[in-house]
Amino acid sequence: MSHTLGYAAKTAKSPLAPFSFSRRQPGPHDVAIDIKYCGICHSDIHQARDEWGGSIFPMVPGHEIAGVVKSVGSAVKKYKVGDQVGVGCMVDSCRKCSCCVEGLEQYCDQGSTVTYNGLERDGKTPTYGGYSNHIVVDENFVLKIPANLPLDKSSPLLCAGITLYSPLRHWNCGPGKKVAIVGLGGLGHMGVKLASAMGAEVTVLSQTLKKKDDGFRMGAKHFYATSDATTFNKLQKSFDLIINTVSADLDLTAYLSLLKIDSQMVLVGVPEKSMPIHPFPLIMGRRSLAGSLIGGIKETQEMLDFCGKHNITSDIETISIDKVNEAYERILRSDVRYRFVIDMASLR
Ligand code: NAP
Ligand code: ZN
Ligand code: ZN
Repeated sequence: MSHTLGYAAKTAKSPLAPFSFSRRQPGPHDVAIDIKYCGICHSDIHQARDEWGGSIFPMVPGHEIAGVVKSVGSAVKKYKVGDQVGVGCMVDSCRKCSCCVEGLEQYCDQGSTVTYNGLERDGKTPTYGGYSNHIVVDENFVLKIPANLPLDKSSPLLCAGITLYSPLRHWNCGPGKKVAIVGLGGLGHMGVKLASAMGAEVTVLSQTLKKKDDGFRMGAKHFYATSDATTFNKLQKSFDLIINTVSADLDLTAYLSLLKIDSQMVLVGVPEKSMPIHPFPLIMGRRSLAGSLIGGIKETQEMLDFCGKHNITSDIETISIDKVNEAYERILRSDVRYRFVIDMASLR
């Protein structure tokens, strides 16, 4: 077992604080990674505060991990010492069910092993995430970060990036498509960059116009405030695809009416409570409402390679780990431009 330093939430009510724990010794198929940076995803807050239920404490959050390979097991083929690598939301899965075989490990029949707030395949060893100085992961769940991308700005690609890339690809984002991204936070800003790099005409639907210039710089062609009621009248039947990244309840019925006929709204944001919808906007335009969870390992690598090719990374604000609780409060106020990333050199 090797000694690891991190930050953990001891209960749903306590702030994150220093925590030391052990990781397994690397086995033949494992890669040991020195974590350099870890992004802060809104899901870290939902889970550290047990907003979705079933949280396992103590919890070391973090699933936007970027680092450098420190050592590899004897059977490891894909990585060598010194490679720049990433780990996202999953560290294992059953590897046998039809989803796993198809590269959709996030939908594993038996449930994938999530990077934190989960249990290893043995069903009893808790997983601890990336707010820590090192991690040991099977090579099949490690990703290669393209050499031209800096590690700090790439860490958010491992969750925010793939969570938008996967539905954009699945629902055929591309030239000629009008795509709306709801919420310009960590996920949303990656959605704007990715969808515009795929060739779509992108609209941002944000609560206010405060982030307008940023949205245009990221590639959006249009930007509307959802606090302005006229927005919903103006944009009736406008979009081929809407991706909703908002972490709070929304009036989904109003957003559905912004879709063209036969088009989809995809939910990736996960609020604490259920949200009611009226069937009319679905019925009146043969529209559909869907959801999407991160992306599989193969697709995550494809996304990283796409970002390498198009030079896409996240807009970040780097913090030392002792500022993590403050960062959580700022995320909750939508005061993030556009992802906090923890510099793990600050962990001592
Ligand atoms: P984030 O950085 O906090 O961004 C969320 C954005 O939503 C905010 O920046 C804000 O954008 C908007 N927003 C917040 N509160 C709102 C409200 N009350 N009404 C309307 N808009 C509001 O969070 P994130 O890290 O992008 O994560 C977003 C959600 O996705 C979270 O619920 C997270 O758990 C979930 N998630 C899902 C997956 C998946 O696989 N499906 C993966 C990762 C995260 P504006 O300021 O522009 O309005
Ligand atoms: Zn996440
Ligand atoms: Zn499986």
